[in-house]
Amino acid sequence: MKDYLIVGFGFAGSSFAHLLEKNQKSFVVFNDNPAPVTTVAGAMFNPIILKRFTAVWKAQEQMHLLVPFFSEIEKKLATPLLHKVRVFRKFTSVEEKNNWFVVSDKPILSEYLSTEIINELSPCISTPFGLGEVLHTGMINTRNLIPTYQKKLEKEGKFFEEKFDYNTLEIKEDSICYKGISAKKIIFCEGYGMVNNPFFNTLPMVGSKGELLSFEADNLHLEGVIKSDGFIAPLGGNHFKIGTTYDNDDKDPSPTSLGREILIEKLERLISCPYHITDQVAGIRPTIRDRRPLVGVHPIYKQLFILNGLGTHGALLAPFTATSLFNFIEKGEAIDKEMNINRFLGKK
Ligand SMILES: Cc1cc2nc3c(=O)[nH]c(=O)nc-3n(C[C@H](O)[C@H](O)[C@H](O)COP(=O)(O)OP(=O)(O)OC[C@H]3O[C@@H](n4cnc5c(N)ncnc54)[C@H](O)[C@@H]3O)c2cc1C
Repeated sequence: MKDYLIVGFGFAGSSFAHLLEKNQKSFVVFNDNPAPVTTVAGAMFNPIILKRFTAVWKAQEQMHLLVPFFSEIEKKLATPLLHKVRVFRKFTSVEEKNNWFVVSDKPILSEYLSTEIINELSPCISTPFGLGEVLHTGMINTRNLIPTYQKKLEKEGKFFEEKFDYNTLEIKEDSICYKGISAKKIIFCEGYGMVNNPFFNTLPMVGSKGELLSFEADNLHLEGVIKSDGFIAPLGGNHFKIGTTYDNDDKDPSPTSLGREILIEKLERLISCPYHITDQVAGIRPTIRDRRPLVGVHPIYKQLFILNGLGTHGALLAPFTATSLFNFIEKGEAIDKEMNINRFLGKK
């Protein structure tokens, strides 16, 4: 009898698996896609919503957990995952610049908004009103995290790269059984794939498709992420990416010509030097109607749990939500009402 079975191995599943290992719990993982949305993502972490200059939900709690959490995984997997990346917001007017100064005095925001205005980041980017810097930002290298972690678990016989078939799940009184594997509990972490999960698919998953383009530009010389109408992030040398699109209607995860067009328009509004597109990727973010995560236990089957709804902030939310679910199950601690699935089940 295992302690846990996890379905899905993106930010959510891998974060929960880390907590299980840390607490000597036994488990197995089923994941059908070696390249989940988590590996498509830019995977930047930044506690500020740069459109409105406001802090993200529970910004401080999430930021305090994030670095120690991914540092532990980095150490365990003996591979670099956490990178410091500077993030700059391009101001589009004097009013916007003044507003940055006004809000940078406010609680929480004062920790993250630098009041030093930067005049230029790259000779190819016009910034007549300057740029503001967000502090304590960075990136998780998910293209390294997910495959490296998967390989480790495969070696230990804990990972099955296959689709989880919901019809084959046997729910017993105090446990579950799946293809001969018994476990005390099952944690569903399928990202947007939750829409196919008959136990949880009444929850209001919206899903927001996002696309990114990679490009080369010899003269851009940009060190740090610049956020304007979209964002450009450096990938090393003359390699960069531009993102991103938001589409709540298209549920096909493949890249589109429309996405490419939108991103090229954003790129041409932002840079004035020659560039060459090298790649395009897309994925569906697991966004929820009220923009909060989905964490909790099934209303009837007490061995079934969900960890989802990481939306546009997987890097920040994964350690926070996984820790909350783990502490709920193992220590009886309450899940924050705003992310508890009970809010959609008519329960308090
Ligand atoms: C273009 C783009 C850019 C983004 N940029 C950022 C960013 O800069 N920073 C940030 O924090 N977030 C970013 N995000 C959001 C982030 O990617 C998500 O919040 C995060 O990846 C969600 O993680 P997850 O583990 O819930 O889902 P996923 O990564 O989708 O993982 C779920 C896994 O479960 C598997 N699965 C589903 N159903 C089954 C089944 N029946 N059997 C077996 N396996 C199953 C899926 O195939 C997948 O492998 C971005 C997203 C996109 C699309």
